[in-house]
Amino acid sequence: MSANGKWEAVIGLEVHCQVRTATKMFCGCDNHYGDSPNTHVCPVCLGLPGSLPVPNEEAIRKTILTGFMLGCRIAPVARFDRKNYFYPDMPKNYQISQYDDPLCAGGAVGLDLFQFPKELQETEEAQARRKIRLVRIHLEEDVAKSFHFEERSGIDFNRAGTPLMEIVTEADLRTPGEAFAFLGSLRQILWAGGVSDADMEKGQLRCDVNVSVRPAGESKFGTKVELKNLNSISGVRRALVHEIARQIAVVEKGGSLVQETRRWDDDAGATFTMRTKEQAHDYRYFPDPDLLPIRTDRGLQEAAKKSVPELPSEMQERLMRDFGVTAYQASVLTADRVLGGYYEKAAAATKHKAAVANWILNDFLSTQPDPATTPVKPEYFAELADLVTTGKINSAQGKKVFAELMTHPISPHEIVKKLGLEQISDTGALAAMCDEAIAANPRSVEDYKAGKMNAINALKGFVMKKSQGKANPGQIDEILKQKLGG
Ligand code: ADP
Ligand code: ZN
Ligand code: MG
Repeated sequence: MSANGKWEAVIGLEVHCQVRTATKMFCGCDNHYGDSPNTHVCPVCLGLPGSLPVPNEEAIRKTILTGFMLGCRIAPVARFDRKNYFYPDMPKNYQISQYDDPLCAGGAVGLDLFQFPKELQETEEAQARRKIRLVRIHLEEDVAKSFHFEERSGIDFNRAGTPLMEIVTEADLRTPGEAFAFLGSLRQILWAGGVSDADMEKGQLRCDVNVSVRPAGESKFGTKVELKNLNSISGVRRALVHEIARQIAVVEKGGSLVQETRRWDDDAGATFTMRTKEQAHDYRYFPDPDLLPIRTDRGLQEAAKKSVPELPSEMQERLMRDFGVTAYQASVLTADRVLGGYYEKAAAATKHKAAVANWILNDFLSTQPDPATTPVKPEYFAELADLVTTGKINSAQGKKVFAELMTHPISPHEIVKKLGLEQISDTGALAAMCDEAIAANPRSVEDYKAGKMNAINALKGFVMKKSQGKANPGQIDEILKQKLGG
């Protein structure tokens, strides 16, 4: 619901996602956008007359896999269509896409409450794990990329013909925070399946945002505006906040909205009219006569099903159930696949799996490490957790070992030796120190015997000091209680 409660936003996303494959969608060129321009091209992806497309099985399989991960219905027979338009980024004047028979239909993405921006997690809009339904997922070829210089423009055809998945949501999203959470969850699922790196900043995930407003309580949708040029997940959120406020201002002044496409300018923090919206029939879609229908029910679906991975939501449940981490910790650990992998390696090396999660999430993360390149091996956190949990060192000493570990990454066992931190667990030595404590603190002893149980803390403190922090607190407690005739 909007800030003033009178208006509600309705949002639907069209997400374009580059599929990670060895070669392009309809030719054998490397799928390597980003290399020096026009180095991965051939007659097919340049759109030269007389060339013929051959579909890429890996791209089709990965799209079907995405469909399985998102609970879609997979079309037994899918078709490719031509979407006709004129633009320099597509010299054959049509893009091969899918219209009537996309590979996947239906399905949904579950929102992870903890993926909401922190300031929104507590609010009513962050209702637990809402399901955002999908309309469809289809596969198409990407177009070339234009670059505009001062007096010239250039086109890089390395991107032309690379496989692109379009994921279209129902208009189920209601707030910028939900759109943000949706993209975060979707990206994690795409990572898990190895379908795409889905990095918005690198253009691997591009998102058109459709948004309208309506009076709260109204069931009909309002006039929608499509926003383009969104380059980051947080940019999507900013653009939506701005555009929703703009639309509300227009209707509150008694004006009416026009269906149009607007361009988000991230620097200006505003949207500008690009064009009024074209209709689907403008594209004159028709089945591509060069491509046969794709039968997915003859092995392709089976192959895709075999590669369905553990999904982020399943991994969260497993970490909570088997490793004893909290829901929030599970969410953080699955939000970043490198961090998640780092934690899994550490956890595999210890019984104390929840303790190791605390070290990694509270201590390690606050040093802003890069888990991909840090010289601190995950196994070191397993050792550290073991040392503290089994009482070989106390938690204050654990912090010292941690600090040393971050500057001189050697095994915590070595650090304990190097810093001389091993706890004194020799009962004889501890008993002698306890005797000293009792002799030196008659007042506390009297108080304790009179029933002030807290008075024992002064004695414990004495022993800790005496042992330079190396005494085992549990053992001191036991010995003192015994001596004081508990
Ligand atoms: P178009 O034909 O203009 O592309 P679609 O019906 O294909 O429109 O919808 C495109 C996207 O816009 C979908 O994600 C859909 O959920 C969303 N959408 C449709 N109508 C509205 C609306 N009134 N407000 C917000 N989003 C909408
Ligand atoms: Zn090619
Ligand atoms: Mg559409």
